[in-house]
Amino acid sequence: MMIFLTSLLCETLSPRISSSFLSVRILPYITGISFRTIKMSTKNFVNFDQSKCVDKKWRHQHIMSSFATYPMESVRDEVQKSPITPPTISPKYDSNLMSTVIEWHGKKDVRVSQRPRPIITDDTDAIIHVTSSTICGSDLHMYNGDMKGMKAKDIIGHECMGIVESVGSNVKNIKVGDRVVISAPIACGQCEYCKTGMFSLCDVTNDSKVMEKLYGHRICGAFGYSHLTGGYDGCQAEWVRVPFADVNLLKIENNRLTDEQVLFLSDVVCTAWHANVMGGVGPGTTVAIWGAGPVGLLSVMWAKYRGAKRIFSIDCIEERLAKARSQGAETIDFSKVDVIDTMQKMLPGGPDVCIDAVGFRYTKGLVHKIQRAVFLETDTPEILGEAVTVVRKGGTIAVIGDYFLTANMFPIGAFMEKAVTMRGGQLYCQSYWHDLLKIIENGEVDPTFIITHTMELSRADEAYKMFDEKSDGTIKVVLKTAFAAIQQTTSGVETITF
Ligand code: NAD
Ligand code: ZN
Repeated sequence: MMIFLTSLLCETLSPRISSSFLSVRILPYITGISFRTIKMSTKNFVNFDQSKCVDKKWRHQHIMSSFATYPMESVRDEVQKSPITPPTISPKYDSNLMSTVIEWHGKKDVRVSQRPRPIITDDTDAIIHVTSSTICGSDLHMYNGDMKGMKAKDIIGHECMGIVESVGSNVKNIKVGDRVVISAPIACGQCEYCKTGMFSLCDVTNDSKVMEKLYGHRICGAFGYSHLTGGYDGCQAEWVRVPFADVNLLKIENNRLTDEQVLFLSDVVCTAWHANVMGGVGPGTTVAIWGAGPVGLLSVMWAKYRGAKRIFSIDCIEERLAKARSQGAETIDFSKVDVIDTMQKMLPGGPDVCIDAVGFRYTKGLVHKIQRAVFLETDTPEILGEAVTVVRKGGTIAVIGDYFLTANMFPIGAFMEKAVTMRGGQLYCQSYWHDLLKIIENGEVDPTFIITHTMELSRADEAYKMFDEKSDGTIKVVLKTAFAAIQQTTSGVETITF
């Protein structure tokens, strides 16, 4: 209670302290800018010796390192010089044709509904007839009423794939009949952020003035992810309209690949890779990963692929920890032991890299439960606090779990004195997915190990409940449309497995 009162006092009485806390907590996440306590490349400090890498694993070297040192100031100058026409947010519809969709109606209330089918609206659009979609941990923020900017009847979902049904007159690389994965972030492909590979920081696709006010800038638009990211219709639907189709669709040409193998290139496969990139995970690195949900488990998979020496996975759900062990991680159950003590015993110097694959919502201690309940903070920084304490001196923290607004009692002292680097951001889907597809195609990794359930899209309300409650061992649910079965019969493509 003393700690709570002291923190309250500090945060309330000292605007100067609060605003500096805010910038350290929030800005790295929102802007993708890393806070460096020393002006040298992170690579020098994380055992990131690329010269020792075997060709096979390090052919994507440019992807690993290209974002660490990009001069953000010059990007901003360029953006102001080159206005690009933004996409239409609400598409045109054909009211004679219906599409099954999943609508958000409020906390723990998602409904299967019928809505008119979207049609080509801008000349760079494509319309996708969906075969498979899935529910992401990010959808649970809305399901739990923790995500701001939602309106009743918003169509949700952002991990999805299917077959192209029609394209606009200005779409060059995608044609009718192509089998495609849809990127969760919507990017224009032309602004200076997109041109440098930072697609989720696209300057063009999100018109939210509220986000601009809150964050100082707008990040990209996203499918079905609140009006803070544009208010686009989501992908848990039979038919989806995709703006800037050439940029936001990945063609899957190999029909031997199942939907399950490639679906997560929409989001969590690329997200987990991004966490490893931000952390600078490479051969010999030691990595601790908070959260063994889909993002945490795939972060373990990629850390192993990238040659990490030891990987620690922290969660409290045994089925999830067992999956992490199956990928080579050592596990810590935070409901049974103290994370900081246990990590310090298992690896006394501390891990080189900590990945937060949990985010703002899973409050652990009473102090933060109270602060969130009375809106003194919106996001809990408990995992970030644990990570700052255990990470080795000069180590890196990658914040891939979502944070949205403010958090109190962040250990700024340890962060600064230990020379810790912290990076955050949404995935750069389009930068990674071509290379990650090749790795999956070669059979070097198999992301399907996270799938526990396959259900029809029309049962999405049940699937949300199971995924949220983590009941019946649910980790990742693949949602199939009726079209998936038809598609499999007519084309032989493995779109359906249940
Ligand atoms: P999830 O909710 O299934 O997984 C979260 C896991 O964290 C759960 O297994 C939970 O038991 C565990 N957890 C809760 N409290 C913990 C604690 N104190 N310590 C350790 N583990 C704890 O969700 P997910 O799909 O794996 O997504 C994880 C996070 O990643 C979410 O915040 C999601 O929004 C975010 N995300 C970010 C991006 C991005 O681009 N940055 C993309 C996708 C998802
Ligand atoms: Zn997601």
